[in-house]
Amino acid sequence: MTEIQFSSTRSANVDSSEIAKFERMANRWWDPHGDFKPLHQMNPVRANYIDLRAQVAEKKLLDVGCGGGLLSEAMASRGAFVTGIDMGEAPLEVARMHAEASALSIDYRKITAEQLAAEMPGQFDVVTCLEMLEHVPDPAGVIEACTTLVKPGGHVFFSTLNRTPKAYVMAVLGAEYVLRWLPKGTHDYRKFIRPSELAAWSRQAGLLVRDITGIVYNPLTQTFKTVSGDVDVNYIMHLQKPEI
Ligand code: SAH
Repeated sequence: MTEIQFSSTRSANVDSSEIAKFERMANRWWDPHGDFKPLHQMNPVRANYIDLRAQVAEKKLLDVGCGGGLLSEAMASRGAFVTGIDMGEAPLEVARMHAEASALSIDYRKITAEQLAAEMPGQFDVVTCLEMLEHVPDPAGVIEACTTLVKPGGHVFFSTLNRTPKAYVMAVLGAEYVLRWLPKGTHDYRKFIRPSELAAWSRQAGLLVRDITGIVYNPLTQTFKTVSGDVDVNYIMHLQKPEI
């Protein structure tokens, strides 16, 4: 890809209708039984996974597409120095207010990963980008930006929904239509990402794949847990930038 092509996709890699959707839902962000219930239920599991693999205490961590700040706060409360970025004004406002109420110091900014990559390349020990790639026009562009933002030897985490029939049934039909956890139209199945695609884009950007783990829902206990062999619906990927 030439530099000119990269620059032209940089400013365009935001779907304004997606941002508007999250703006409308923002005031419910911290309601554990509201529109973001699945993120609340997943949060301890994914925070543990990230901390176990990257030991976030005292590290500079960037949370891309942070929304109302669920993961940003979990990381800050484990001692990370957190910057959270999002293109939605309302989610960021909610995130700022909630962090203040939680007595956590988190730097929340409205900027894209691509723009921040130009400003702060190689400055973060850990970059997280969870449940966001399925909402952007060009996920590979975000992955490339996250790779630029992380330090050599640093850790990157992506999570998203797999493009499988099971994910369609669980995440679209189940969560939006049957259980009504999420407003209808929250997810577009066509934008779900197979682990092979996510791994290929990451390798192309220069990252090493360290692990791929499923985040699996148990309807009986109403909890999520990590299951290494089951990436059919939700999954998280751990990557690392090689040392120079
Ligand atoms: N990562 C958070 C929130 C996921 S919801 C969590 O897992 O808890 C997806 C978020 O991505 C929304 O807040 C939305 O505003 C944001 N988003 C979507 N496209 C974006 C883009 N191109 N740049 C930055 N943020 C974006």
